Amino acid sequence: MAYTFRGGFHVTEHKHTSRCQIEKMPPPAKVSIPLSQHIGAHCKPLVQVGDHVYRGQIIGDVEGGLGCPVHASVSGTVVALESRNNAAAQPIVNVVIENDGEMALDPLIVPHEKKLSETSAEEIIEIVRRAGISGMGGAAFPTYAKIQSALGKVERLIVNCAECEPYITANHRLLLENPAAVLNGTKILLKAFGLRSADIAIEDNKLDAINKLEVLVADSTLFRVRVMKTKYPQGDERQLIYALTGKELPMGKLPADVGCVVFNAETCAAIFAAFAYGMPLIERLVTVDGDCVVTPKNLTVPIGTSCLDVINACGGLRRPLHKVIFGGPMMGAAQWDIETPVIKGTSAILCFSAKMDAHLSRTETCLHCGRCVKNCPMHLMPNYLALYAKANRLEEAEEFGVLSCVECGTCSYNCPGQMQIVQYIRVAKGAIKAEAARRAAAQKEGE
Ligand code: SF4
Ligand code: SF4
Repeated sequence: MAYTFRGGFHVTEHKHTSRCQIEKMPPPAKVSIPLSQHIGAHCKPLVQVGDHVYRGQIIGDVEGGLGCPVHASVSGTVVALESRNNAAAQPIVNVVIENDGEMALDPLIVPHEKKLSETSAEEIIEIVRRAGISGMGGAAFPTYAKIQSALGKVERLIVNCAECEPYITANHRLLLENPAAVLNGTKILLKAFGLRSADIAIEDNKLDAINKLEVLVADSTLFRVRVMKTKYPQGDERQLIYALTGKELPMGKLPADVGCVVFNAETCAAIFAAFAYGMPLIERLVTVDGDCVVTPKNLTVPIGTSCLDVINACGGLRRPLHKVIFGGPMMGAAQWDIETPVIKGTSAILCFSAKMDAHLSRTETCLHCGRCVKNCPMHLMPNYLALYAKANRLEEAEEFGVLSCVECGTCSYNCPGQMQIVQYIRVAKGAIKAEAARRAAAQKEGE
């Protein structure tokens, strides 16, 4: 029987691109690489306008603290260091590079010279940090820091191949076309944690990939393919851990606190590329889909490529564009600028026309059906959270556990009253956190 969790629901999959082989996108004429793509500090630029850069060269790094470097994804000339607003309207410095068409690789990029068996956990952490790898499932937490903080604490390594968001199929294709990269990256993580085996968790709507993996790992004791029930949000690490181990992750705790650590499949492949070839994270797999796209595809895209260039690589738009989402429709972020660059956390670009936007005909009325309560994977009462958040009654929202919401969007998706529950929750969480930060700053000043 497939593993699963309590709550959640089966979302219409829309996995139209599951048979689209991964294609390499032609490198764009220009890339715009944000110096903040991960959780943690912004990078400081290490290049100036007029500099020549190689593909894979470090162009920005943090000055201590949490964070990892960013690299040039094409070779060419730095033509601007300019501030651009990201999806959350925060100004971020971007390094703009004009592609010289050479794709000349940084000569400093060389494979790690030791065998895996002779490589220490600290060396693996440094390789991962230097390669600028951050979680590619969406959270964008620096991967080296995740490994570092979990060392000596975990007994279960889980590779997250659930890909439960509608539309997105890039990880599915990766598992079909290059499963060895995912498995080899997992071996590197097993070595770092000193563990003997890993769970490869994959939803049962990817039978071809499950069969492929089962054949590949048949004689190995290093991997256990775990078939998960197709249910949203199975890819949320709390749900994955519960489904596989029965352990609930208390709010504010990390998976390592319950002996687990979870890595996305593409992150594992990036770790392997860093170890085997010295290759930093300069491109990623992106599913491009939505009713506006002429030819939906799975593409390998250089980091910093504009959304518009990616859409054009898929034949352009077939009808007027109403909304572009980076990531899945449940948890992704709507973009306000068609030139927004692809970053390390961009798993999909979804382009929708107005007819796909339920928001335009929303009634916003709670019918007290209880569906949101039944389906919430965090066992919250989303109807009350929305009510309190809408009325700016933040203390009550907090009492009802608003900060435990993982923003999966299940409640909004299922609401027959078309309440924008998760949007109200996001606003309330932001206001509560801002108030807590303000109080902490005031207290510090008073000390
Ligand atoms: S699902 Fe919507 S209508 Fe039903 S109780 Fe929740 S908020 Fe109200
Ligand atoms: S309240 Fe939060 S965790 Fe619960 S279903 Fe809604 S978005 Fe998901």
